[in-house]
Formats: sequence, structure tokens, C-alpha cells
Amino acid sequence: MTFLNQKYQDLTPYTPGEQVNEGEFIKLNTNESPYPPAPSVESAVAEVSQSLNRYSNITVEAVAKPLAQHLGVKQEQLFLGNGSDEVLSYIFQGFTEEGIAFPDVTYGFYQVYSALYKVDSTVVPLNNDFTLELKEYDALAGTVIFANPNAPTGIYLSQAEICAFLERHPDRLVVVDEAYIDFSGASMVTLIEKYQNLFVVGTFSKSRQLAGARLGFGVGNTDLIADMNRLRFSLNPYNINSLTQAAGGAVLQEQEYVDQKIQETIQVREWSKQALTKLGFEQTDSQGNFLFAKHPQITGEKLFEALREKKILVRWFNQPRTKDYLRITVGTQEQMEQLVKVLSTILEEVKA
Ligand SMILES: *Cc1c(COP(=O)(O)O)cnc(C)c1O
Repeated sequence: MTFLNQKYQDLTPYTPGEQVNEGEFIKLNTNESPYPPAPSVESAVAEVSQSLNRYSNITVEAVAKPLAQHLGVKQEQLFLGNGSDEVLSYIFQGFTEEGIAFPDVTYGFYQVYSALYKVDSTVVPLNNDFTLELKEYDALAGTVIFANPNAPTGIYLSQAEICAFLERHPDRLVVVDEAYIDFSGASMVTLIEKYQNLFVVGTFSKSRQLAGARLGFGVGNTDLIADMNRLRFSLNPYNINSLTQAAGGAVLQEQEYVDQKIQETIQVREWSKQALTKLGFEQTDSQGNFLFAKHPQITGEKLFEALREKKILVRWFNQPRTKDYLRITVGTQEQMEQLVKVLSTILEEVKA
């Protein structure tokens, strides 16, 4: 029996990566940071827990002020969400009158939100090498959204190409999901003033050690942010809880710690890339905190299962174009050395 409205009966929800008991598995499946949050997060959260009888601050001042400063934007150009997923959901809900277009290989939630909000969506295939060709969006109408670097490929699209598209289509909203930008090239955030049709989405989940706190943001012109807030105040004005506000505020006071972990992740990523190449893997040149790799001698599914058997969790997407690949989060150096060891054992068994 179901009481669910007819229009949601066919909804296929997003499949999150498995969450497991820490300690039992090496967890390389959801692109979290392997490092603990910045040291001052703990006391900041403990302190604010004393005032949980009160509603959270709707201006989210503790985060908005230092984050605006960090990004070099005004607070009125900043929107905060319960994870960037919530920010993205408002985009799909409210800024897609003429439809939305996104790549075939990208973040799974774009498809899910399109279906949820009944948005007219166009899926544009990436090139054979998984690079993104914005020219292919020229003939379409409406909003465009893509992740940069893209997920799960990690491929980074140059600022110049994005700017050229923004200039060709001043009347179309362009949403750049920069969940992984801190491990990569230049952010589009600096170009918010220049392009009224640009909206940049970011998160504290990947490079700031706060995936569990659920804190994301969007940056755009003040009108766009005001409209986002109209939606937010029509659904959930208290979308960022007090504990998360405290945690986010504390992290922003510890940029040095965050930067150090970013550099560490990049170093481990490049080491891991080389190690996997030596084992015969083919990979994209990922600029994220993950690798995207396939091996000619074993299918993605088999390798995923074999790793799981050996208590290493990675992500395998059962999609036609990517089913040979695994997406492997960059863990600590130690974890990645263990991964390489286990991979070489599995590959020897395959060859034998
Ligand atoms: C992880 C991820 C998100 C969601 O991040 P949250 O802030 O944790 O909701 C959004 N976009 C992409 C491309 C991601 O990989």
C-alpha cells in the first residue's frame, strides 16, 4: 500500500556511497577527507551545544562573514545550504523554467533533482575521452550545470572556456559545481561580478573535513541570492543547524590546517596515480580528491568486489560509459599504499 502522490511513484532516488564502521574498511568510496576536522571544531561545537534550546541563526553569520571574506565576495552574494546538495536542489526547483542541460557522465544528483522537480532536462554526452565540450550546449536553451572538476572523472575545464560560454549566453544561467575546486585549478568565484549569469556552488564536505556537518554554499549576483533565499524561507529558514554553524565558523579560522590537508591530498593523489599506472591502470588526469581508473585485465565490477572482499571500499558506477572504471577516493598515504598492495595481489591472481 502507498500513500505517496502519483507523481512521485516512478522516482528513482540517488544512491549514496555505502557508510560503514570506521576501522573495518579502508573507506575510499565517498570522496570525504580522510583527515579529522580542524582541531578547534570540537570545542566550538561543544560550546554551542549549550544553546541548542534556541533556534539556529538564520543569517548564519558565523560562517557567512568569514566565508565571504575568504572567497572575496559580499555576504549578499553568498547563499548557505545544508550541504551543496540543498543548494543544487533549489537550482533545479527554481531556476529551470526553460529546462536544464548537463553531461551524461557527472554527479548523479542532477538527474535525480530533474526527475523530482519535473524539469525538462537535456543530457549531453561528453567526448570519448570524457572531456566537456561547451559548444554542444550552444544550441540548447535554459540553464546549464556541470561540475568542475567533473565527477567522477576529475577532469578540469579551463576558465577561458567557461567564460567564453558565459559571454555567448548572457541570458542563460550557468551553474558551476566546484565541489572539488580546492584540489584543482582556478575557481570561477572571482568572476561573479563580471558575469550576472554565473552561479558557483561549493562545499565543506570534500576539502574542509566537514562532510557530516552538511554545509555547502552558492555564490552569485545579489538578485540570484535573494531569489534563492525566497525559496529557502519558503521551505526551511533554519537550514543550517547551530552545531554546523559553529563547526563551519571554526574551520574558516583554520585555513592553514585546511590548506595543508589539501596539499597533502594532492601529493598523495599524484603518488597514487603513478602507482596505479605502474600496475597497468588507465586513468583520467583527475584534479579532484579521487582517481578514476580502469584495468584492461579485470572488469570494474569484479575489481570492486575483489577490493570489498579485502576490506577496501571504492565506488563503482553501473553505467554504460563508466562501468569499466572505479572511482577511488584519495585517502592517506598509508591507506593508498595498502590499496596498491592489495591491487597488485588481485591482479596477480587474475593473471595466474
Ligand atoms: C560531493 C558532491 C556534492 C555534494 O556535496 P555536499 O556538500 O556534501 O552535499 C555536490 N556536487 C558534487 C559534484 C559532488 O561530488
